Amino acid sequence: MFFRDLLGQERVLGFLKQALASGQMPHALLFLGPEGVGKGSTALALAQALNCQDRRPDQDACGQCRSCRLFAAGHHPDFWQISPEGEAANPQIKIEQIRELRRQTGFAPFAGVWRVILLKPAEAMNEAAANALLKTLEEPPANNLLILTASGERDLLPTIVSRCRRLVFNALPQSVVVQQLQTRRGLSPEAATLVAAVHGGSLGLALAEDLATLLAAREQVLSDLAGLDGGSLGQALDWASVRAKKGADIHRFLLLAQLWYRDLLVLACQGAAPQVVNQDRLADLVGQQSQLGRPVILQRLQALQTLQRQLRSNINVELALNAFTWYWRQTRRPAAGTGVSQPLAKHI
Ligand SMILES: [Zn+2]
Repeated sequence: MFFRDLLGQERVLGFLKQALASGQMPHALLFLGPEGVGKGSTALALAQALNCQDRRPDQDACGQCRSCRLFAAGHHPDFWQISPEGEAANPQIKIEQIRELRRQTGFAPFAGVWRVILLKPAEAMNEAAANALLKTLEEPPANNLLILTASGERDLLPTIVSRCRRLVFNALPQSVVVQQLQTRRGLSPEAATLVAAVHGGSLGLALAEDLATLLAAREQVLSDLAGLDGGSLGQALDWASVRAKKGADIHRFLLLAQLWYRDLLVLACQGAAPQVVNQDRLADLVGQQSQLGRPVILQRLQALQTLQRQLRSNINVELALNAFTWYWRQTRRPAAGTGVSQPLAKHI
């Protein structure tokens, strides 16, 4: 992994290259940012550059020297990663792993100049592990670089954050993710646009997405929403109950529903087809947009936003979905059922 392979993150790379050039590398770095934007890859590229025997003028590793060849083979003895261990439901970075880190950093690096230890993700440290790490951060051993990754500072001890140099990674621009999905995964422009929208600017998650699974999930969402329109209130509440039991699935349901209605709103407001995310279903979107009209689309987006807020506030999922189905059914046109919708209001 090289700096030249990384996408975006110019500010972070600028800082790291400057530190390499001046020989003033901090002893601990904290990489902050969403999942899949290159934090781990950057740590690897930095470790390789630090240990390269013939670093290029732009501070990137050469790719040819003995150290670079060890990195390419995936077993450089001075780069290791500490990952959560233990049961799948609650994996943690444990104090034994930090004690081993402290023991190893007591020795000089084996092959290279710098030992680089990646703790990923740092939020996975339990309290005992975090306190043990604090001791290492207070008395940093020479020629050892600790790199912690985290999505945010909130779940880390402030004393750990304050002893690291913070570097913030941004979500990648959507256009970059779309282009990478086309070149690296061979996706069509339409499919790449949808996958990129689902994963924001997280290239790692977007590359790992299974397109067929995503498309099936979207069909299910559209079918569920159509069911809320057409079925009885009893059926809608049954649906809410079943959905609530599926757990994590609800966030994907919400996201796909929001993307669909966002597309309807784009078409209703501007008619700008190129900005639509569900490009492969453009004809359906155009038809539904003219059938629903802008006021109903807006009300439904509001219902989805309310559901999102409630789920974030840890309210009981089934209660939130019950309220959502009720609001959703209120937006139906009078001919389809209840009457408090915008088209009716226009007649009053
Ligand atoms: Zn090299």
